[in-house]
Amino acid sequence: MRFREPLLGGSAATMPGASLQRACRLLVAVCALHLGVTLIYYLTGRDLSRLPQLVGVPTPLQGGSNSAAAIGQPSGELRPRGAAPQPPLRASSKPSSGGDSSPDADSRPGPGPASNLTSAPVPSTAARLPPACPEESPLLVGPMLIEFNMAVDLKLVEKQNPEVNMGGHYTPKDCTSPHKVAIIIPFRNRQEHLKYWLYYLHPILQRQQLDYGVYVINQAGESMFNRAKLLNVGFKEALKDYDYNCFVFSDVDLIPMNDHNAYRCFSQPRHISVAMDKFGFSLPYVQYFGGVSALSKEQFLTINGFPNNYWGWGGEDDDIFNRLAFKGMSVSRPNAMIGKCRMIRHSRDKKNEPNPQRFDRIAHTKETMLSDGLNTLTYLVLDIERYPLFTKITVDIGTPS
Ligand code: BGC
Repeated sequence: MRFREPLLGGSAATMPGASLQRACRLLVAVCALHLGVTLIYYLTGRDLSRLPQLVGVPTPLQGGSNSAAAIGQPSGELRPRGAAPQPPLRASSKPSSGGDSSPDADSRPGPGPASNLTSAPVPSTAARLPPACPEESPLLVGPMLIEFNMAVDLKLVEKQNPEVNMGGHYTPKDCTSPHKVAIIIPFRNRQEHLKYWLYYLHPILQRQQLDYGVYVINQAGESMFNRAKLLNVGFKEALKDYDYNCFVFSDVDLIPMNDHNAYRCFSQPRHISVAMDKFGFSLPYVQYFGGVSALSKEQFLTINGFPNNYWGWGGEDDDIFNRLAFKGMSVSRPNAMIGKCRMIRHSRDKKNEPNPQRFDRIAHTKETMLSDGLNTLTYLVLDIERYPLFTKITVDIGTPS
């Protein structure tokens, strides 16, 4: 006991339990101090982290204003694309010829209506893009009723598709699509068919969450129709508008009956219209590649594009199939249920009679594909019209030689 007295000191040593009381008071004081300091640190810390979000000033931890954190995005999120691509109608105020060998270099008409847009500074950061679209769109509805017994009012179709931009371009606004698809439609005097196509396809393509543009390639003049050459023109002209990575080549009179039939590209060339009503909802033969098909830019370039010398009906799609086969590619297809589609019945167009030379030409694809295609394509663009639902390019593709 004598050892403890100096520690407690004075009168406290004389009171029973006094040393315990003093120790408790000391403990309470220390706890209160600790609580106070913790509270101050806590409140101060929260306020500091909130301030930059309100005024856009990054904290050292959040990084610069371009960082995902600065705009409230998860910082580890993967972005599918680097820089934000410019939409086609804002890309340039004047269509350019692209320096190719075609005689269209200086022949293109002046800027279309939308080219009067002044160019706003392009956002420089990929972080502003919405997240990648899902592999399969959640908006698809499956089988659809397709009929051609009503009149289509294009003004109404425009109203029903308010997010389609001038020239027929659409970009999903809630997600970033990796599929930048130019739809190329060879055309002459089929306005009524085109109306049905626009009426049915725009909603489908939007539900498929594609970044797409619609190009109607109109053959000028009265000479023999040449489907494949018009498709080549569409490929070249669409690329002057936008950085498309996929090309869907579609007849104007074919409508898919199921929106799971993707109008986009795959690792192998895609045949889309695999179960047409006119062929009893199946393929007429296994090599059939007509109607609607999709090739990536690389696939198209690998086969030197399509042949230019199939004038009149038939054979060009078989030639394209041969080109793919000779380059070691195979054809990808949806199943026959998903691939069902309807064709608008019509009588054969004038100046599109069956081509009697087609059988001979098909037999020589292996040799001709090197010297007939994209590398020998010549044409003259006469007019480019930007309509709300499509871009129409009128072109002189010459006559059979
Ligand atoms: C023609 C093709 C055509 C197919 C189906 C073939 O004989 O060569 O061009 O798509 O028939 O009609």
